[in-house]
Amino acid sequence: MATTSKPKGRPAPSRAPTAPRATVRRYQMFINGKFINAASGKTFNVFDPATEAIIATCPAGGPADVDRAAKAAKTAFYAVWRGTTAQDRGRLLFRLAERVRARRSELAELETRNSGKPIIEAEYDMDDTATCFEYYGGLATKINGDVLPVPAVAVALAMREPVGVAGQIIPWNYPLLMAAWKVGPALAAGCTVVLKPAEQTPLSILALAEDFEAVGLPPGVVNIVTGDGPGAGAPLVTHPDVRKIAFTGSADVGRLIMRSAADQLKRVSLELGGKSPNIFFSDADFENAVDGALFGVFINQGEVCSAGSRVLVQRDIYKRFVDATVAKAKTITVGNGMDRTTKMGPLVSADQRDRVVSYLKIGAREAKLAVGGGVPKAHPRGWYVEPTIFYDVDNSARIAQEEIFGPVMSIIPFKDEADAIRLANATPYGLAAAVWTRDIFRAFRVVRELEAGIIWVNHMQPTMVEAPWGGYKASGFGRELGRWGVEEYLETKQVFINLDEKPIGWY
Ligand code: ADP
Ligand code: MG
Repeated sequence: MATTSKPKGRPAPSRAPTAPRATVRRYQMFINGKFINAASGKTFNVFDPATEAIIATCPAGGPADVDRAAKAAKTAFYAVWRGTTAQDRGRLLFRLAERVRARRSELAELETRNSGKPIIEAEYDMDDTATCFEYYGGLATKINGDVLPVPAVAVALAMREPVGVAGQIIPWNYPLLMAAWKVGPALAAGCTVVLKPAEQTPLSILALAEDFEAVGLPPGVVNIVTGDGPGAGAPLVTHPDVRKIAFTGSADVGRLIMRSAADQLKRVSLELGGKSPNIFFSDADFENAVDGALFGVFINQGEVCSAGSRVLVQRDIYKRFVDATVAKAKTITVGNGMDRTTKMGPLVSADQRDRVVSYLKIGAREAKLAVGGGVPKAHPRGWYVEPTIFYDVDNSARIAQEEIFGPVMSIIPFKDEADAIRLANATPYGLAAAVWTRDIFRAFRVVRELEAGIIWVNHMQPTMVEAPWGGYKASGFGRELGRWGVEEYLETKQVFINLDEKPIGWY
């Protein structure tokens, strides 16, 4: 890779929490098995959100680069990848997982430097990334069709085939993990890939691409085009050789993508935002409930599509719950993600910080502020926002209806079960929800009524690679993870094989 890697024979750079990188690494994108610059020669800067330092530059990909990547992916699909065995694709995914495990600390550090997230969370992300590749490595050999019980003298089959070239556009909150969620199932299905990472966080997947050749990925099977949404994402959506678009990101961009994919009737799957309710009944275990409310929305600085940003609390525990949650929120250590004691890092970019701060101003008008509400005084540098809790929030308030994608909790009181369900579903979104209660009957009643794709009972956020992930309503459609994830990359071909020697009887 033609980047300025760590100089040999010198000690590793200092890992002091606040030391910004002295060198700016020049990354290249990965097309047809090679690291290359953009056709235009243009680059963009990549930052460390904790220090605001420029840590890297990446090629600013445009339509010409997307075209090159899509053609490479198409050639690789027909000439090589389609003809590989499921066993070979499975083994390759296992080797990719091994590389992630072997490079766990290096990749986690890069992820933290580039995204801001606490290093401990980044390390878990690397484990989840490896597990995802392993899951789809195993699933590769379990993709099979059906023999159908048709009435005619015939054998009817439903065969499964890869869709072809998949275009994948991912966000910046879980950079390498989101790449694994999309690349894993695509490769297992036999698709080839053009992946566009978010412009804020392209580094970890480019680092992993250094290993693609060694694990046996033929050139063109996975291509990575760096660049921003309009420059590199939009031409990927409209490229005629791309058969399917898988997108995770904001609802606004999801709508744009769906519209622009309509011209070619391109397949689309969308995992968009949410405003997920985290519902606490008064019979819930109180200590676990308080921790669950905090973890549900402050993990990864609140930059989580399934964040439990609406905390619904039953009236009879409301005051006690607010007090305890606020007291505990004050103990959250905010700081550079590289520091192992950090519980919450900076937000990913100045833009995102500004967006969240603008919602803090809206919240201050709409509800009562209990804690936080601004930029922490201890961190004038870096894109930090305080963990913030608003209470007595009306469910129709903007801070209860609009996705903030930052560390902002809105606490909303409710009276009874019917009230909780009504409030929980009163949002355009339907990605996730959680319910806390020790009453198993109530738990199942509420689970049945919630209109969301992911429901947790007495927990919030654990994400299992075996289980389907995706939303109802404005949170999108299609499912990732599990066997559902691979369906998105498969076509179904009906085959009718006649066994009647004189089948056409009436001519
Ligand atoms: P945010 O605004 O929080 O960054 P986005 O939905 O804009 O969230 O970004 C998610 C991903 O979508 C990123 O990879 C981004 O580059 C990409 N993207 C943004 N705009 C477009 C677009 N018009 N077409 C295709 N991809 C886009
Ligand atoms: Mg955007």
